[in-house]
Amino acid sequence: MPAVRRTLAAAPLLLALAASTLPARGDDAKKDNAEAKEATKDAAPAPASGKLTITLADGKTATCREQSAQSFLIRGNWFPRTNDAEKLKEGRKLLEQAIKYRTEKYGYFEGYGNPKANRHPPKYYAKSTSFMGLSVQVHSKIIPALKCVEAALKASPAGDEYKPRTMGGIRFHNTYRGVEISNHVYGIAVDIEPDKNTCCGCVAPWNTHPLCKQKDKTVWERMAMPRSWVEAFEKYGFYWLGHDTLQDTMHFEFLGDPDKITESTGDIATN
Ligand SMILES: [Zn+2]
Repeated sequence: MPAVRRTLAAAPLLLALAASTLPARGDDAKKDNAEAKEATKDAAPAPASGKLTITLADGKTATCREQSAQSFLIRGNWFPRTNDAEKLKEGRKLLEQAIKYRTEKYGYFEGYGNPKANRHPPKYYAKSTSFMGLSVQVHSKIIPALKCVEAALKASPAGDEYKPRTMGGIRFHNTYRGVEISNHVYGIAVDIEPDKNTCCGCVAPWNTHPLCKQKDKTVWERMAMPRSWVEAFEKYGFYWLGHDTLQDTMHFEFLGDPDKITESTGDIATN
């Protein structure tokens, strides 16, 4: 979901963004040519096992564990494109389950879920970190996952292929309307360079981006970010909203298990 542009909190724009949850007509892109990856000279070489190591805030090292997004947290599964009442009911159940899970793991946001499940709001757990040279504030639990994505990008040509200039993280208001709540509110979503990676399934100004007019192109071709970046995020539990009907290409949300981001903590780094 695109950010309400940093400093302007204009009500009409908020409403416009809220309306963007309506189904859009974009097709999900098909996976095609995967890019060959080779180590660059200055990137830290990946260990022989293929597993990456990161340094945590406390100075301990940890090994990144690959994982997928959990399906009950994927918004496309809450609103199946069907008229089947049973399936629609199942979707709503998943959404309820997802709100319960996010409240327990990430914090209680007023109006959604049970305040007894977590006595703190998500912002209580928010911390600033850096990602590919950009500063971003997110839920502290997902910082290791971002670090794993960063390590993966830096260990491959992907880190040099693309240099975003802006990035967004946690938000303190909900940009969705009604039953749904944005993962930005929980601090588990990030937007990478919104003006270059737009949201063609959203309303203006996002869908008026010149790239959205190129209807013959796939969603992958209608953004500045290379596919290799999406693949790096997906490897470590992030879901890309470019797959969604929204085609929100800037947006990644951590839908993996926050307790399984790393394998184990190791020794305190000596350098
Ligand atoms: Zn977003």
